[in-house]
Amino acid sequence: MPIAGLFGPEDFAPSQRRPAASAPTARPGTGALPRPALEWTPEVERTTAPLYERVKHVIPPIEWPLMAPTIKAINEVKVARNAVILAHNYQAPEIFHCVADIGGDSLQLAIEATKVNADIIVQCGVHFMAETSKLLNPDKTVLIPDSRAGCSLAASITGADVRLLRERFPGVPVVAYVNTSADVKAEVDICCTSSNAVAVVESLRAPTVIFLPDQYLAKYVASKTDVKIIAWKGACEVHERFTGEELRAYREADPSVQIIAHPECPPDVLAEADFTGSTAHMIKWVREKRPKRLVMITECSMADNVRAELPEIEMLRPCNLCPHMKRITLSNILESLLTLREEVTIDPAIAERAQRSVERMINLKN
Ligand code: SF4
Repeated sequence: MPIAGLFGPEDFAPSQRRPAASAPTARPGTGALPRPALEWTPEVERTTAPLYERVKHVIPPIEWPLMAPTIKAINEVKVARNAVILAHNYQAPEIFHCVADIGGDSLQLAIEATKVNADIIVQCGVHFMAETSKLLNPDKTVLIPDSRAGCSLAASITGADVRLLRERFPGVPVVAYVNTSADVKAEVDICCTSSNAVAVVESLRAPTVIFLPDQYLAKYVASKTDVKIIAWKGACEVHERFTGEELRAYREADPSVQIIAHPECPPDVLAEADFTGSTAHMIKWVREKRPKRLVMITECSMADNVRAELPEIEMLRPCNLCPHMKRITLSNILESLLTLREEVTIDPAIAERAQRSVERMINLKN
């Protein structure tokens, strides 16, 4: 069914709203390690050769000598620090395949974060992901290599906005996509990801649910359930740029091409797709179906990461990069490990309630 209502900041008086919570200020790191020499040597070439095998279909040989010394250094410093690196599917292949210990979508990373047995977590993703890791690991040091790595979706709503929605719709439960700040997570009943959004909404057994902040994911969920959905006007700046027209052009050029899309895309895009699913579901679909030619409608690096694993698939891809995800680089990952910056902290009064919303989702999944 169509969504039952769509709200945004303009639907509330400015005096009722408070500014969005800013990212926590980085604390100076302690215990810095000596800086490794970053030179391309026969030793670097030999030790990183197995890693290059993983990415040779997506990283040209001429670029490898520029990356390999930093990759080797990260993997060594990571061990010295007893750290693990979590990387989202949208991270570049040299990060996702060569330095990450755990890779996946938001849900996979949240679940894996609960099992981490290390002193330090380095989050290669955006700020709300690092916050989620911190919520689930309050006693560990969680680092994000660049704390400016934000998200247009997470920035679209604040905890104060959620409180106003609750006043407008008393008694209606609230589901927040994990792409939200801890401040927002603290105000909602439960979190969800694009993998489990429909199941989470239906688990509340309510006739109407407020679903925020992605209006397109809300529309997708509404099309899959009888629960009435009230949505927020947020959007992902990467997925919202795709158009149905663009997809029809791919299809006209080659009618045999397969198109798969993320549910953060607008409805006219999803209408053209052969399959719609979260990043984890898209990867599973590709591994099972092994199409000859494929268009992946999501952030550009994910197609590279899949192609590194399945080089026989020809990827035709409109390349929309997430500028926030791309703030994370090999250089700042190494810097983060060496200097223990930027540390993610969350106000304890917010953290406890936000943690509950994330854990409710994880427990539902398990
Ligand atoms: S891809 Fe979209 S939802 Fe994901 S971090 Fe970037 S802006 Fe946010």
